[in-house]
Amino acid sequence: MFQETVDFIRSAFNTKEFIPLHEPRFIGNEKKYLNECIDSTFVSSVGKFVDELEKIIAKYTGAKYAIATSNGTSALHISLLLSGILDGDEVITQPLTFIATCNAIEYCNAKPIFVDVDRDTMGLSPKALELFLKDNTTQREGLCINNTTGKVIRACVPMHTFGHACKIDEIADICEMYNIALVEDAAESLGSYYKNKHTGTFGKVAAISFNGNKIITSGGGGCIITDDEDLAKKAKHITTTAKVPHKWEYSHDMIGYNYRMPNLNAALLVAQLENLEMYLENKKELSKKYKAFFETQAFNFVLEPSDSQSNHWLHAVILKDRAQREAFLEFTNAKGVMTRPIWTLMNKLEMFKDAQCSDLTNSEWLEDRVVNIPSSVRI
Ligand SMILES: *Cc1c(COP(=O)(O)O)cnc(C)c1O
Repeated sequence: MFQETVDFIRSAFNTKEFIPLHEPRFIGNEKKYLNECIDSTFVSSVGKFVDELEKIIAKYTGAKYAIATSNGTSALHISLLLSGILDGDEVITQPLTFIATCNAIEYCNAKPIFVDVDRDTMGLSPKALELFLKDNTTQREGLCINNTTGKVIRACVPMHTFGHACKIDEIADICEMYNIALVEDAAESLGSYYKNKHTGTFGKVAAISFNGNKIITSGGGGCIITDDEDLAKKAKHITTTAKVPHKWEYSHDMIGYNYRMPNLNAALLVAQLENLEMYLENKKELSKKYKAFFETQAFNFVLEPSDSQSNHWLHAVILKDRAQREAFLEFTNAKGVMTRPIWTLMNKLEMFKDAQCSDLTNSEWLEDRVVNIPSSVRI
């Protein structure tokens, strides 16, 4: 029954070899810019490619400022710190996400609270969020207090799963009503829009990743985007060891981080950005092909949710149940077609097993059924 799927994926990628889930493509000016970067000797933390990249990302996303970082996790860590998280605070996020979201929360000495996702977007559900806040919190002096723990719920981190936008405008409204800072984990959603506005521009600040498996890559890297000038300045400062500018003195005015993106990585990314539109087109075309094919199969393809213009970073199917999911994974991987299940829910991991959770019916339903299928740009 899954042989047809394997055959279809093989024909779509036109190969008899192993087909990975997502591999990068370097078909533009990557080598040229890397050579330029090496010849300039500015391969590390200073250089024109970093400046250029920050300008391009800001312009592309419509955010006023972009600050390049060493990876998406460090971008998220600093985004959370700058949204005002203090030791002992709590942060609402979805249980269906990559571990980095929760790691960044813990780096701030804060604790995650898990609220359910919507089935169609696989991202944080505004309905579940509102219900949780209504039933479990009290407003005190402009702060959102968790009735169960007495702690401040300072921030909320929704994530745009596989590049599909969650219902971020409703989430933004709810966060505002409850005095909670909105920090978007837009790691997977460069090139994705919600109602024609780029993901990551709905809250105070957002993080994007340029890891090797994402839609475009700097090898390793990430960036923070924001409209807030003060926050942007702080982000640059704190990610560059908090050094006070001076002609020669080494002076630092707080504990900072070495979270800079090296110029070498930025050179690679500037070249990748030149091909982003072409990648997006190519991925959209594959999405259409998959959609048409899976209409003939006994299980479903994950469709672009309404109001989302997705980047189609990772394609996914929804199997009937856990048993069918396992059978599909076994069959496809044995045939050299790489497929991977969606993440284990965060609340099931040892580190987060005591975290407070809302009803997680949708997250559990998706965890049992969703599998990613090969999604690379086909060139
Ligand atoms: C990739 C990813 C990150 C982290 O990015 P890195 O660059 O790998 O550190 C964070 N959140 C989500 C949802 C991701 O998919």
